[in-house]
Amino acid sequence: MAARFAAAGPAAGFRVEHFGETAAGPLIALTKRTPGPRPRIYLSAGIHGDEPAPPLALLELLEAGRFDGRANWFLCPMLNPNGLARGTRENADGLDLNRDYKDLQSAEARAHVGWLQRQPNFTVTLSVHEDWESTGFYLYELNPDQRPSLAEPIIAAVTAVCPIDLSPLIDGRESKGGILRPVSDPLLREKWPESIYLRASHTTLTYTIESPSAFPLAQRIAAHRAALETAITLTVRDWRKTPANPPAAAP
Ligand SMILES: [Zn+2]
Repeated sequence: MAARFAAAGPAAGFRVEHFGETAAGPLIALTKRTPGPRPRIYLSAGIHGDEPAPPLALLELLEAGRFDGRANWFLCPMLNPNGLARGTRENADGLDLNRDYKDLQSAEARAHVGWLQRQPNFTVTLSVHEDWESTGFYLYELNPDQRPSLAEPIIAAVTAVCPIDLSPLIDGRESKGGILRPVSDPLLREKWPESIYLRASHTTLTYTIESPSAFPLAQRIAAHRAALETAITLTVRDWRKTPANPPAAAP
């Protein structure tokens, strides 16, 4: 997978950076800037090593040329190389990296935060996951400024390729139509997942999208692809409606 990212990145016009090293390989970031004002879209995957569909979905989109001139791109596709190599959720020290973005006990999360601090703010962030317990696709949204939501269109697009988890309670949290919008202030949580760090420091719109591990790999990848393609299309469309610099007031 790492070799495929290393080949597909430059072929699609991306710069490939190593921002950390682990026993199982480097932590990689792929970035691409398009000239002119564009939305900045951040995507991450592979923070849980037992979730192979998310990095594979990003790889397929990269190889298909879908990260094109519509945006500036920031990809961290394999955030837990040790876990991915061993097929474990945690890293080699048994740490769940996606609970480590406040305490930064792991070298991986520290290196990732260091890299993020060198990046500009993002228009939207999309963290891609799988869930072993869910009966279908679902997503979390953090949208404190009430920006136009991408949640319903994402769910509508995924419906064509994968069932949606319609349970009223997912992961112990209230859910509606496969959409979780946590009501309590996420910054007060004791352990921070990547998305809460992103919300605190880099963006006002985050999504965590989850495909059901019980379904075939190809279907999970298709669900992620449908979700991400929709999120990207709408982000580009909505961003055009709001110019980066508002016109000067008439004299
Ligand atoms: Zn996960």
